[in-house]
Amino acid sequence: MTPTRTTLEKMKFDNQFVSKLPCDPEAANTRRQVRRACYSRVTPTLVKAPRLVAFSREAAHLLDLEENACKSDLFARVFTGNQLLKGMDPFAMCYGGHQFGSWAGQLGDGRAINLGEVVNQNNERWILQLKGAGPTPYSRTADGLAVLRSSIREFLCSEAMFHLNVPTTRALSLTLTGEQVERDMFYDGNPKLEPGAVVCRIAPSFTRFGNFQILAARQENTLLKLLMDYTIKTDFPLVPLSQTSYEGWFRNICEKTMDMIIHWMRVGFVHGVMNTDNMSILGLTIDYGPYGWLEDYTPDWTPNTTDAAGHRYSFKNQPQIALWNLGQLANAILPVLGHPEPLQQALDDAIKYFHQGQDTMMAQKLGFKCFEPTTDRPITAELLKILEAVETDYTLFFRGLSDLDISDEDISQERIGNVPGGNKLAPFITKAFYAPDQISPAHLNRLTAWLRVYAKRLAQDRVSHQKKKQQMDQINPKYVLRNYLAQTAIDQAEKGDFSKIWELLDVMRTPYAEQRGRERFAEKRPEWARHKPGCSMLSCSS
Ligand code: AMP
Ligand code: MG
Repeated sequence: MTPTRTTLEKMKFDNQFVSKLPCDPEAANTRRQVRRACYSRVTPTLVKAPRLVAFSREAAHLLDLEENACKSDLFARVFTGNQLLKGMDPFAMCYGGHQFGSWAGQLGDGRAINLGEVVNQNNERWILQLKGAGPTPYSRTADGLAVLRSSIREFLCSEAMFHLNVPTTRALSLTLTGEQVERDMFYDGNPKLEPGAVVCRIAPSFTRFGNFQILAARQENTLLKLLMDYTIKTDFPLVPLSQTSYEGWFRNICEKTMDMIIHWMRVGFVHGVMNTDNMSILGLTIDYGPYGWLEDYTPDWTPNTTDAAGHRYSFKNQPQIALWNLGQLANAILPVLGHPEPLQQALDDAIKYFHQGQDTMMAQKLGFKCFEPTTDRPITAELLKILEAVETDYTLFFRGLSDLDISDEDISQERIGNVPGGNKLAPFITKAFYAPDQISPAHLNRLTAWLRVYAKRLAQDRVSHQKKKQQMDQINPKYVLRNYLAQTAIDQAEKGDFSKIWELLDVMRTPYAEQRGRERFAEKRPEWARHKPGCSMLSCSS
């Protein structure tokens, strides 16, 4: 049933997190260590000139909001933090985290302020959270603000990921504050003033691994148990609440986390900062910072300049980092469970769960009915080596692969291409090469050999070309938020033109569809973007 749309004033709040969990007794908005509490009450800082840049109608619908409500002045005021609605009770959460493998102590919502929890007409709970709405007790040495460029990236990517079927926090709105914010984007001593912006994110829960870690680190075990019980009851309704259920809960978190990672690997997403404070307890992609999309398939690639030396958070490392982070969560909740064996068992099983999920995902990407280990493991391994050997666009290659029609004849060299001097390569392959003229005969031979094996394997499934293509095209997106595309929208927006943001938001609504007239958004990264900041490497400064 489509709910009747409502207005801002009619949104119903039911603020469970603040009503069920202990609050920091200190009321002043000063930076401090917050002990024996899960959050601090704090109000957003007033801004000069709230102005709406963009909103997501799909996210608005989750709050039963009609589109006109999103275009009102009230909306811009509320979602820059200038006005609170009746029922809102703003707060910042206390959490800690491991950053780049080292325990960093208390972090917390340094620039995020939760406004309240909306219960929509379908009885779903959505927490509204402003990012960039001013300092909180957790802001440490920073200003609590966000700039337009990083807010555009968070806004667009959250919604793009949702439409790609990747679990994610959502973005309701992107607003300008009318304030200027100073940022040293390259950390080279040249700070610049940039337009200040706020994104309103929404999610059923913003709780992170780090919320549990901080309590464990402080040995606040009673509170730790309280937060665990609260989280299970509120966010994991299917897990029964009992002493033995912690184990099942942790298993569930392991599976949700691994599911998210498998989706990232499927669409070529690199988060860039997989610190434990950026890991959602619900397995949602959260905190879009220096993330990036694989263009040429380079498993070791990381978009984050801060990670350039170590590549800790590279594309290929994401599964093992997720596991490491789950291990830290296990350590954190151990005092409540009392014995480590079930947690260790769950972690071991998470590895198996990931590998099975990854196999299934690769089989789907390749258009197989299911993953047959004996044949499909070597096929997959060889393909990934081939893609890595020369610069080949990950998205375009897989998307194009569904065009390979093996239904009516054997795969002849003519159909799939052969060495230079022989026949031409299938267009879908040449489209994916970044430097087609640099492809060696040996590489073409290898690719052709692989295609032959692949075609033979496909034929075994006895699925019609049409059906197979249709299935593959629902797994392999045509449109992803390529780094340079987001950067073009940013460049235009900084000049006052927001139309590229709206256009990209719309393109990313149907990433699996052929969108006539919009093929340019599905092209590989142009050469000018290869080394341009924002297109290939991103700093954490945001
Ligand atoms: P991140 O690396 O963005 O996940 O942030 C790590 C921690 O720093 C979190 O506690 C953030 O809330 C905080 N933080 C990041 N940027 C700012 C900022 N501009 N002002 C205050 N806190 C921030
Ligand atoms: Mg963060």
